[in-house]
Amino acid sequence: MHLSKLFENSNKSSPKRTGETRKLFLKKQIFCILYLEEHKTIADLCIPVGVSIPTMTRIMHELMDEGWVTELGTGESRGGRRPVYYGLNPSVRYILGIEMTRKYTRINIFNLQNKAIGDTLQIDIELDNAPGTFIELKNHINQFIKKYKLDKKNILGAGISIPGLIDKKSNISYTYPNLGQKPLDVVFGDLLKIPVYIEHDTKAMALGESWFGLARNRSNVLCLNVGYGVGLGMIMNGELYQGLSGFSGEFGHIQMIPDGELCDCGKIGCLETVASGSAIVAKAKQMIESGTNSIIRKLVGGNTEKIKLPVIIEAAHQGDQFAIELIEESGSYLARGLASLIHLLNPEMIIIGGDIAPAENLILDPIKQKLNKYTISRIRQDASIFISELKEHAVLLGTIPVVMNRIFSDEPYINNIHNFNKS
Ligand SMILES: [Zn+2]
Repeated sequence: MHLSKLFENSNKSSPKRTGETRKLFLKKQIFCILYLEEHKTIADLCIPVGVSIPTMTRIMHELMDEGWVTELGTGESRGGRRPVYYGLNPSVRYILGIEMTRKYTRINIFNLQNKAIGDTLQIDIELDNAPGTFIELKNHINQFIKKYKLDKKNILGAGISIPGLIDKKSNISYTYPNLGQKPLDVVFGDLLKIPVYIEHDTKAMALGESWFGLARNRSNVLCLNVGYGVGLGMIMNGELYQGLSGFSGEFGHIQMIPDGELCDCGKIGCLETVASGSAIVAKAKQMIESGTNSIIRKLVGGNTEKIKLPVIIEAAHQGDQFAIELIEESGSYLARGLASLIHLLNPEMIIIGGDIAPAENLILDPIKQKLNKYTISRIRQDASIFISELKEHAVLLGTIPVVMNRIFSDEPYINNIHNFNKS
């Protein structure tokens, strides 16, 4: 039996392990440690796994024979022989990342060093409920896998990020795509023939920031996703906060304007209606059509239908007063909402991400300025505020921990590995 067998049956692992089962369990432990730590010596591995050097040497030789582990080279001598470092063979297994938004879907495949194996494929596909949408998506994904000559058996899982309301326990989506009572992981699993793990898009972004971005090694971070809507991912006490059903973080739907515009959610005057990328775009279109002077008009060749957030950000970077003010106004509303979050949650860091991120200081400065006005400075000074360094890649990268956390999660020892690293 190979290590992959344990992934298939990982839920069945029991604390009482003997013989082959125990060996597989040990192999999975080694896999997890080498995935998280990249390289280790045999002696380093013995402590967290809890076996002797001869046992570890034997298991490592088996893992090398099976293609999971490779020798990486030797380190500095600590008095005796130079230690040999071992790591995972990065291309022994892969992770499929799928980022679905209402307007497009992005796909890439990552190796066990979390490196993308190719350029991200973006498919402009509306996330409606037509069965054809999913068949089209499946074909694109299968072609992508084929392009890189990968065997589906070697894909550990697909992490799919989805916008809107997803029930964490049932994986039923209540917004886009809405497939009634059908769980999304089952529907996509049947389509792709790969184990599928679903996560809300902004929560995937927070995981991406937590594993690969500015939130790395931080315990209390708020990740703001400003794009089509306004979402919030919360890392609290080092964990991604879900809430009872996974519906936490609907920050975009706090009321900002009591008699404001109708929001997609059916309520009036939500933060999204004045601060999201789509709100900025709608206002730009309306104002330019009614004669406002701006270089945006020139950038879209006079066709206001072509006004999208990147065009407005581009105009703002070129010094266009109107575009700058639109972004500033969004920042000002976001700051009013963030002030409440800072008072409630006392975060150490706030990361501004999503489609607004390329605006850089044009969005960051008004947020900071207004926060000084709206917050108690003692609490405000704990929270540093940054634009995401991962920018538009954060959500897709976040699908990696969506898959890997699930592979690790049924094994309590993973906590011991973290504790071990801290000591
Ligand atoms: Zn709303």
